[in-house]
Amino acid sequence: MPDTETPLTSIRARIQAACAAAGRPPEAVTLLAVSKTRGADEIAALADQGQRHFGENYLQEALDKMPALAGRDLIWHFIGPLQSNKTRDVAAHFDWVHSVDRAKVARRLNDQRPDALPPLNVCLQVNVDDEDSKSGVPLAAVPALAEQFQEWPRLRLRGLMAIPRADAEDGNRAAFRRLAMTLSQLRNTMPALDTLSMGMSADYPVAIEEGATLVRIGTALFGPRPPKA
Ligand SMILES: *Cc1c(COP(=O)(O)O)cnc(C)c1O
Repeated sequence: MPDTETPLTSIRARIQAACAAAGRPPEAVTLLAVSKTRGADEIAALADQGQRHFGENYLQEALDKMPALAGRDLIWHFIGPLQSNKTRDVAAHFDWVHSVDRAKVARRLNDQRPDALPPLNVCLQVNVDDEDSKSGVPLAAVPALAEQFQEWPRLRLRGLMAIPRADAEDGNRAAFRRLAMTLSQLRNTMPALDTLSMGMSADYPVAIEEGATLVRIGTALFGPRPPKA
């Protein structure tokens, strides 16, 4: 039933509309379905509709779901907080990591990425609102950490990710613009960087207007998340 409207088809349509409004081609933005707390059956249902990129926050939960989805050619993104003791499994089971914010974690991912796999795609998580409580590289420290990726051949630095504060009056436009500006400056010396991972259910059209190339959407696709047990 290709004409039936589903959350996936309406989000795709909103992404296309936001791209058109910003004068960007529709394929400029990748939809990452954030499937934390969702069962393998729900992921399979989206995969049947052509969705390929899925984002997970909790390592063990993701590892538990992946076997049931093997063979579907899905692309797995780790987007949750990343401590050193999780890097081995992340390096072995994911295609992308969006939450790298220190050299120690990056070095471990590089050393632990299996030889049989292509380099792991990495985004640096940036503390774009300079919040004390937030993880993420401070904006001013981004260039130095990005330079260090020359030492890590098993990682492919792709760009920047941010989770702006939830209460900004401008729908996070200023934060998205700061992140986009930082990437654009990095690209002067690192032209291969191509990814701005920003925008979630509540603010992805604004993120697309400000240059997002990948939006991370959970609630708008799957409905509200059940409270964590
Ligand atoms: C949960 C989560 C999302 C998705 O948030 P929604 O508001 O449900 O769309 C996006 N990015 C990160 C890093 C998340 O943890």
